[in-house]
Amino acid sequence: MSTTVQEGFIVGVPLALMPGLQRVLAANAGSMTGPGTNTYLLGVQEVWIIDPGPRLPAHARALMAAIGDRRVAGIVVTHTHPDHSPLAVEMHHLTGAPRIGALPRDRAHHDATFQPEITATDGLVLQTDVGALTLLATPGHASNHFCPWWAQAGVLFSGDHVLQGVTPVILPPDGDMSEYLASLRRLQALPLQAIAPGHGGLIENPQQNLAALVAHRLKREAKVALALHSLASGAPVAVEALLPLAYDDVPLAMHGWARHSLLAHLLKLAGEGRATCYGEPPATGQTDLRLFGLPVP
Ligand SMILES: [Zn+2]
Repeated sequence: MSTTVQEGFIVGVPLALMPGLQRVLAANAGSMTGPGTNTYLLGVQEVWIIDPGPRLPAHARALMAAIGDRRVAGIVVTHTHPDHSPLAVEMHHLTGAPRIGALPRDRAHHDATFQPEITATDGLVLQTDVGALTLLATPGHASNHFCPWWAQAGVLFSGDHVLQGVTPVILPPDGDMSEYLASLRRLQALPLQAIAPGHGGLIENPQQNLAALVAHRLKREAKVALALHSLASGAPVAVEALLPLAYDDVPLAMHGWARHSLLAHLLKLAGEGRATCYGEPPATGQTDLRLFGLPVP
């Protein structure tokens, strides 16, 4: 995957990516957000906001300046993680535009302030002045994740489903590895020209990128299965016990996040009868303490 830092990553300064599409970067750079959250403005005379971003007053001002005197037709949210949707409240009040998105099935790790006027559904078409924008349900990173698809330009707005240079974390129970892979495969069928991710630059080799993501997940899955076979042959083990082996190529500082993805891989293996899960699913927001062992013959 390309990790090239592209030009134009200056906080608050709108960058024209192509006719009818601007990107405005929010000031929330970090290990999970790369240069920060990308907010996209789609349209010429009338704009659609895609992912308003974190609730930073400076970001709201930057967006209003970039929008200028144009009407805002809608505020689309790819999913409700705290770096993508919280500013929707502000932008809704400032512009009167409806918020379009869905609520998650499990609210841990999500922005509780998000309330849609229009609930996102798979295949919902929004008419922009640069062509139709179709919402595609892409659960996996989050249960309520949608990728808006701008077919006329072949551009997919991927939120956190596909990122530039990094692999998104899957956070069970709201995130789901089986769903994530199925959503990736769904996108592989599209005639993509570019992917506009929630973090990082425009991905101009989209099919190569999707294939690399699928391969990365399957490689990780194989490592998880191998770790399980070497450590849980006697008795079932905790997720933590498998972490050093299954993620030995990931810096220790990232293991807190990797634990979530590891759990997601184990639950997928259990769902396919390739592992056994012991214990009950935790309540919302509680740590998952289930144990995992080899499949029961
Ligand atoms: Zn996210």
